[in-house]
Amino acid sequence: MTTNAFPKGSRGFRLLTPGNPKTEKGKGRGYWTFILHLAPASLSGFNTCPMATAGCKAACLNTAGRGGIMAGHGILTAADVANGLRNSIQAARIRKTKAFFTARHEFMAVLVADISKAIKLAERNGYRAVFRLNGTSDIRFETIRDANGRTVFDHFPTSQFYDYTKLANRRGLPSNYALTFSLADGNEAAARLALSNGMNVAAVFADKARVARAESEGYLGYPVANGDETDLRFLDPANHVIALYAKGNAKRDTSGFVVR
Ligand code: SF4
Repeated sequence: MTTNAFPKGSRGFRLLTPGNPKTEKGKGRGYWTFILHLAPASLSGFNTCPMATAGCKAACLNTAGRGGIMAGHGILTAADVANGLRNSIQAARIRKTKAFFTARHEFMAVLVADISKAIKLAERNGYRAVFRLNGTSDIRFETIRDANGRTVFDHFPTSQFYDYTKLANRRGLPSNYALTFSLADGNEAAARLALSNGMNVAAVFADKARVARAESEGYLGYPVANGDETDLRFLDPANHVIALYAKGNAKRDTSGFVVR
């Protein structure tokens, strides 16, 4: 296997990112989240988000934090990246995404090695490693197999994985993969179906006051839990709407993605 396509990044990981400010909050509960960031939607030339909406693409966390800062330019918007402006983080996400689609078996071998490394690193520091493979994508990882036909869930049956998704028809999920459906402009019917099937649905509200109102009133006919205290979605109460407040590009949303 060549690792030239997978250079080492933070803490020696080739694919995973060892946390961000939000996932840091999970450490207070004993969990260290490791995230795979691919290039969202069609930024790499390959579509990683088949149900992305205009609103979610504009508000996507792809340009949150360091992913959205470019020397000599300032803050990167989703439109800037779509128009070809990219910093080193955006370039790395595009490189990883191309490898996922064009060198799948090598990609999976590197991912499995990174997950093993993360488990050991977290344990040495007194944490349990947990994983979000769709940090900025929406891929059916339950169907993605390595050269031996094994998924990451087959490799790591006792590790917890979790993600947000806009794909309402992901079925037969491994027991260690928790999914939260993600409400966006134009997918409310699918979100209602997800709730009626027992899933949780995450919704982005305009601000903290709107989150507080939703917590007292409920939303879409279901109880609401605050999702900003940690990123650990697999610990949320079952069959709730999970309320997040708008950050970054989402604050400027006019598409209907953000609940007002
Ligand atoms: S589906 Fe998620 S990752 Fe993809 S563009 Fe929308 S917000 Fe970003």
